[in-house]
This record gives sequence, structure tokens and C-alpha cells, in this order.
Amino acid sequence: MTLDVATGRQSDLRRRAEQLFPGGVNSPVRAFGSVGRPPLVLSAGDGPRVRDADGAWYLDYIGAWGPAILGHGHPDVVEAVRDAACDGFALGATSPREVELGERIRDAVPSVERLRFTSSGTEAVMSALRLARGATGRDLVVKFGGGYHGHGDSMLVEAGSGLATLGMPGSAGVTQAAARDTIVLPYNDLVAVSEAFGRHGAAIAAVIVEPVAANVGVVPPAPGFLEHLGDVTAASGAVLIFDEVITGFRVARGGAQGRYGVMPDLTTLGKIIGGGMPVGAYGGRADLMRHVAPEGGVYQAGTLSGHPLTMAAGVATLDRLTPDVYERLDATGTALEAGLRAAADEAGREISINRVGSLLTVFFRPQAPVNGAEALTADRDAYARFFGGMLDEGILLPPSQFEAWFVGAAHGDAEVAETIAAARRAFAA
Ligand code: PMP
Repeated sequence: MTLDVATGRQSDLRRRAEQLFPGGVNSPVRAFGSVGRPPLVLSAGDGPRVRDADGAWYLDYIGAWGPAILGHGHPDVVEAVRDAACDGFALGATSPREVELGERIRDAVPSVERLRFTSSGTEAVMSALRLARGATGRDLVVKFGGGYHGHGDSMLVEAGSGLATLGMPGSAGVTQAAARDTIVLPYNDLVAVSEAFGRHGAAIAAVIVEPVAANVGVVPPAPGFLEHLGDVTAASGAVLIFDEVITGFRVARGGAQGRYGVMPDLTTLGKIIGGGMPVGAYGGRADLMRHVAPEGGVYQAGTLSGHPLTMAAGVATLDRLTPDVYERLDATGTALEAGLRAAADEAGREISINRVGSLLTVFFRPQAPVNGAEALTADRDAYARFFGGMLDEGILLPPSQFEAWFVGAAHGDAEVAETIAAARRAFAA
């Protein structure tokens, strides 16, 4: 809490960070480059707000990029982590807290019969893809343009999140072979999916999809899209993977699969299930999970997997995500969307908003995008100006047009009103 006081103010910390870390950050989206502002150094969070190292507070819509669904530093989560720390951190064997969190996830997420914890969403995705390939004996994986599934080599093709923000079509250092094994299709395009399976069906191990795309800004699934993915994968023997790292426990307790009633074969999770601690998980059909070592021949491991502090934070978080919390999150999202639309109208700004529950994006383009390519045509400069205007009003939005706003349970009517009042001025400026 007193790190900033002990070591200097924000500009000094920023300068020292720049010397240490590429771009001054340990994850590219934190660099604020696309919004033309210096990156914030945040030293504390409390409920819906975060404080920078100079002591200024902001109403926060980054939400730790997803995990902070209860707000920052929820006292019950802090206490659970403190208790777990007193038990000695990682002990290198299965701990009771892993079983507790695993059971909660299995009971909430419809497709998950068995699961494995990892330390990040990236690892969860890499492991799920390896499992799909191992179980099917096939190589190809279908993903969708603008979908972000962590930074495993084969997923860094037409990816969203930081790559969309930086305008990078892919990453240097990914072999052609890895990229060749990835087929990229337009999101929400049922015909393209059918055609790809018509051409390559017997070689496709898996389709991986964000069931609500949230890494090019929010793009909801078109009616029938997820069902179609279920049909074509079932018919061809491919594995359908829902990457619910963002949507899990976010758009409903049962994730997007719960909200839309479509069952994948495997699900990847992260973020909320760790309550703000490093985490990932993959799980699904028991007959698939049987292929994972030591039961089966697909190897996957992790020294800190199922870390007790993470598990404690996850259990405390999931136990507070009751039906009334989701109702409130939806209501807050609805009010925020309506207010932002009215504010933009008033200022004569042509924007569109995509929202699913507590995930939303204000796109600086007149029509709401239905896929990654459309989302990428939004006016980044207009977003950057809006971002700057809001920041000057004390409202911290994601520092990219292509990232979702995360509304949390700590955001209430007062915070929505504050945001809309600021947006009125920022749209008008
Ligand atoms: N999948 C999705 C859908 C994500 O949004 C992310 C991260 N934002 C990941 C995977 C990767 O997770 P992590 O950053 O924990 O590796």
C-alpha cells in the first residue's frame, strides 16, 4: 500500500519501469500507447476505484482486465487470501482449497465434468488445444479473426487484444508451421465455418471461440452461431472449445454456455475464478479429460497450478457471485449503456455500443460491429480523445478501442451517474 510513498512518485516509477520492462510494462495493453497518454502506475484499488502512485483516484472500468467483478480488494477475498497465506503458500501437493474451487466450477459451468488448474489463461488454452489434438489425432485448429486466446504460438494469428491495439497481424517468432495449423475465419460467419469443414473437416482437431468476443471490443454471437459450431464439430468429430477466460462467471454464473444454452466439449477459464490472483483452468467432458496425464498421454503440468492463495481468492469470489449479483450487474450495464447512448446523441456523436451484461464497448463507428474486421474499422483517434477526456474527469476506461469495459458489482447508481456526466462532457469536447 505504501510502495509509492517509499519509492517515489508516478513519473519516477514510470521512468524506472521503462528502463526495466519493454515498453515500461509487463503486458502490452498496459502501455497506453494507442490512447496517447503515459501509462498509469496504479498502486491501490478499493471497490470500483483505483489510485495512481501520485494519489489520484479514478473510477475504474479496466477491472484488472476482468477478474475484479466484486470490485478491488473485497474484504472477504482479502481475508481468505490472508488465511491461506498463513497456511504456508504452495506446498507442492493437492490442497483442500483446490478441491473446493474445482467443485464450485464443475457445479456452475455446464460443460465441465472434470478440470485442471493452470496459472494463466494462456496455459489453459495451450493445454486445451494440445488435449484436443491428442484426443483426435488431428492437427488443424479453427479460430476467429479478432479472437484472443492468450499468447501461445498457434493463437497469435489475426488475434485481438494487444495485437489489435498495436495493429500487429501476428507475432514475429511464430513458425510458419504453427501458423499453418491455424485456420482463421470471420466471427459470426456460419457459411465460412461450413466451408472450412467441407474442405478440411477430417483434419480439424478443434474450433476455439470466445462465445462472446471481447478482445476487439465486445461482439456478441449472432443468433445460431454458437449452435452451428456445436453442430459442425459434432458431425466431424472435432472438439468445440469455448474460451470463457473473460465470459466465465461474467456473463452468467454458468458463463456464456449457461447464458446461451450451448454446450462446448471443452472450456477454458481464467480471471474471475482466481479472484485477482494468477489463474487459468481447462475442463470439459470426462472422456476427453481422461487423456490428460497421468491418466492419459497428453502431458500438462505446473509447479504453482492450483496455488492455495489463488484457490482461496477464487472460492471467496465465486461464493459472492449469487443470482442477485448478476441481476445487479445486468441492471448497471443496462443503465450505463442507456446513459452513454443519450450522452453521445446529445453531443451529436455517431457511436455504437455492444453489450452483454456487464461487458460493453463504445465503438466509434455508427454501426455495431458483428466481427473482428468490422470492429477494427472503428475510429481509434476518436476513442483516444474520448479516453483522454474521461481520464481527465477521473474515469479510467480501457486504454484501447478494442478492449471491453468491465463493470463490477461495486459499480452502483452513483458511479453510473458520475460516468455519464463525464461522458457528456467528453463526447462534447
Ligand atoms: N483467452 C481470452 C479470451 C482472454 O481474454 C485472455 C486474456 N485477456 C486469455 C485467453 C489469456 O489469459 P492470460 O492473460 O491469463 O494468459
